Amino acid sequence: MRPRAPMPPVVVRFRRFTSLNTTIRLRQGKILVSLSDLLEGAPETVVRAIAHILLAKLYKKPIDAAQNLRYKRFAASATVSHQIELVRTARGRKRYFGPQGRYYHLEEVFDSLNARFFNGLLGRPELTWSEHHAKRSLGHYDAAHNTIVVSRVFDRPSSPRYALEYLLYHEMLHLKFPVRMRGLRRCVHPAEFKAEEARFPQLAEAMAFIRRL
Ligand SMILES: [Zn+2]
Repeated sequence: MRPRAPMPPVVVRFRRFTSLNTTIRLRQGKILVSLSDLLEGAPETVVRAIAHILLAKLYKKPIDAAQNLRYKRFAASATVSHQIELVRTARGRKRYFGPQGRYYHLEEVFDSLNARFFNGLLGRPELTWSEHHAKRSLGHYDAAHNTIVVSRVFDRPSSPRYALEYLLYHEMLHLKFPVRMRGLRRCVHPAEFKAEEARFPQLAEAMAFIRRL
């Protein structure tokens, strides 16, 4: 946008806004950006669109229509508005049990999967073991709290590491591919999600273990 101007230092902060509030300011030669933490898990294309829009506003340049549409679509999607609603009502009310299990530490497993499958690019959400040894819900990504919850049934010596890895990998793909609306349908596991899931080397063994559970 200003090809001849030197690149100013940029400070980006995610803050606990309960809306998608985003601000950009130029202060003492620094670009200061505040983004809602609701945008932390947004796909990279959306983050790029936000960067474009903010810089265009800052430098009073025209906003690219495609970028604007990309951001507007994301912001307007039912998931995001639903998420905001949930955050408003539930933020701070939930109890978590933390990532340290008896046998596995979820942050350690997350970081190793992030390096192996995502080039280390996925932002780490809160990770927690479930309160009980739940078998009905083995894992889920709670978008309102940006938290992955994993059932404690995976935290025992009889549970192979690849089973836990597969479960966490699946939830990490939910971070990468947020739920979208296709017409009136929620598209939870789109084709690109399934294609990436199939890259997990011990998929068949992990599924077999989970079926036995
Ligand atoms: Zn899923």
